Amino acid sequence: SVATEIPLQATIRRLSRLIIIVVAVMSALLFALGLALGQSATTMFSTVVSLAVSVIPEGLPIVMTLVLATGVWRMGKRNALVKNLQAVEALGQASVIAVDKTGTITKNEMIVEKVYAEGTLFTVSGEGYEPKGEVAKDGSIIVPANHPELLAAGKIAAYIAGARVVYSEEKKRWMVAGDPTEAALIVLARKLGFEKEDLERESLPIAELPFTSALRFHAVVHAGMREGALSVIGAPEHILARAVRVRENGKTYELTGTRRDELDALMRSLSVEGLRVLAYAERASVGANLSPDAVADLTFLGFIGMKDGLKAEVPAALAKARAAGIRVVMITGDHVVTAEAVAKEAGIFKEGNRVVSGTELDSLSDAALADILLTVAVFARVTPEHKLRIIQAYRAKGLTIAMTGDGINDAPSLVAADLGVSMGKIGTEVAKEAADIVLLDDDFGSIVSAVEEGRNIYQNIRRVALYLFSTSAGETLTIIGALFARLPVPVLPAQIIWLNFVTDGFLDVALAMEPKEKNLLTRPFRKPGKYLLDSSMTLRMALMAATMAAVTLPLFALFLSTEGIAKALTISLTCLAAMQWYNAWNCRSETRSLFAMNPFGNLYLIGATVVVVLLQLLAVYHPFFQGVLHTVPLSLAEWQLVLVAGLPIILVEEARKLVARLTLRLSH
Ligand code: ADP
Ligand code: MG
Repeated sequence: SVATEIPLQATIRRLSRLIIIVVAVMSALLFALGLALGQSATTMFSTVVSLAVSVIPEGLPIVMTLVLATGVWRMGKRNALVKNLQAVEALGQASVIAVDKTGTITKNEMIVEKVYAEGTLFTVSGEGYEPKGEVAKDGSIIVPANHPELLAAGKIAAYIAGARVVYSEEKKRWMVAGDPTEAALIVLARKLGFEKEDLERESLPIAELPFTSALRFHAVVHAGMREGALSVIGAPEHILARAVRVRENGKTYELTGTRRDELDALMRSLSVEGLRVLAYAERASVGANLSPDAVADLTFLGFIGMKDGLKAEVPAALAKARAAGIRVVMITGDHVVTAEAVAKEAGIFKEGNRVVSGTELDSLSDAALADILLTVAVFARVTPEHKLRIIQAYRAKGLTIAMTGDGINDAPSLVAADLGVSMGKIGTEVAKEAADIVLLDDDFGSIVSAVEEGRNIYQNIRRVALYLFSTSAGETLTIIGALFARLPVPVLPAQIIWLNFVTDGFLDVALAMEPKEKNLLTRPFRKPGKYLLDSSMTLRMALMAATMAAVTLPLFALFLSTEGIAKALTISLTCLAAMQWYNAWNCRSETRSLFAMNPFGNLYLIGATVVVVLLQLLAVYHPFFQGVLHTVPLSLAEWQLVLVAGLPIILVEEARKLVARLTLRLSH
């Protein structure tokens, strides 16, 4: 595959350029300022270089990779296999999910419930694909053998259906190979006493047009007893359009306009129950040369209505998607009426929504489609080719769209969508190849969970970036402040490197492992800005940096005047380090109070904090580090002073979080 840069990488690249410019300008200004305020050129040079090193977030690419990789791994645990990292960005931002009805919303497990055979309506009972069930007419159970029209329906079903339905002793259930619609026909035939193999022994198929979503019917011509006769099952309007006669109660009539209307009304009344309705018909003699045009001049025989139950997990997943502000639209080849019934049952179709059919879609201009797009809940009687147009319409509106598909001809739209999702079990290899994400368990809910993970990945990267930038900004501000106060530089180059690589290095990796917040899906998702930073991050960064400088500078000045430069430098280093420890804990959440969070929620952070505290003790007490970092031992009282003096960084963030929570509540 082509290695393309993922949008997140582009954002980081833009951010890096911005940083380089800022660092260059800032270094030059700082250098000049230092000289002007009486610092030596050598001091200023080493200070400026170490600051430049510290401002450049060397840790960011590593942490970003870590965040992406753990995100992908977590999605994997939820059975969403991410094939394409680019998907991760689209995921968090998905605002529309277009789902296939069959197999995503419904179980894709069809069972025939109604047969309208040559003028008589029968109900069929049973469970799944088990070939056991009763047939009833007007509420009382009948014997199929006494109803030749019903037997004829069963025979046609067996002749046409190509699926295999077998009982697996191992799995203790009936298994299907092939199209579930056809499997349901096989089971109906069995309930009426027909086996496909037995029928084909006396009458072999000699020509066939398999079902496609373009033709919308499946036709077979047989030799033998039914020499040259064509049997066909398909979408009612396609069959009726090709029918000229109708058989009823043993007689054949011409199919008049009135009769067509009556049949159409009957078909709708079955569809309203959420049944997928198929019509079946025959033609006396066609011969072996079967083309779609030969499927004409038909005698309409009846309807078969099959149920495809809603998946149990769908309503909950839909509610979750809606709470996240994600619009779910259903796409299906089924009839408008069936589709609407299923969409209502699933909770996709709400008062005021629209159902748009493939025919209607063809008649709409792009502008007209754009106008109604946001009210559409269902696209029905559409082909996979229509899906491409639907996706383009949403994208033209600036919406990020995820879409599911499992057929071979879904591949173009899976590629066109911002996020192509295919089902691991029912999906074809082609669809899985084209998709960005494969849902191994075919569970629609996994898409919603994946969106949550996608948002979490952003959250994590923002969190780590904020943390890294705020400490660099804090150090810079402290140094600038000292220059203006005509104090010596309060953090030495080696100390800057220590703070950025050692202290930040452990804590930012630990922060990247922060577990997902619970309300990720329910609160509004901010699309990341061009440079990753946004106004909220900038504000937090400014507050944190200002606090660090405001605490460190006076302490440095105090110890400089009382205890001398060595102690003062140790104090400013330890003070900044302590505030970085605190700040890592601040950064766990953007709005939740540090004290409202489970302190053991991120064990990595606890571990990293322990490690950096121990390292800081080494920095202050171990002769080797004392030599490198120019530190001297601190007394217990000095430690207490530093640890207490650093607390404002927590208080300032807590105050800001409180205000943020209040404004969030007010705006709701
Ligand atoms: P979906 O998107 O729900 O899978 P399809 O395009 O497969 O829709 O089906 C469209 C219509 O074609 C169905 O409503 C049904 O009337 C008819 N149909 C579906 N599958 C078959 C089949 N195997 N044989 C005959 N007709 C079918
Ligand atoms: Mg289908």
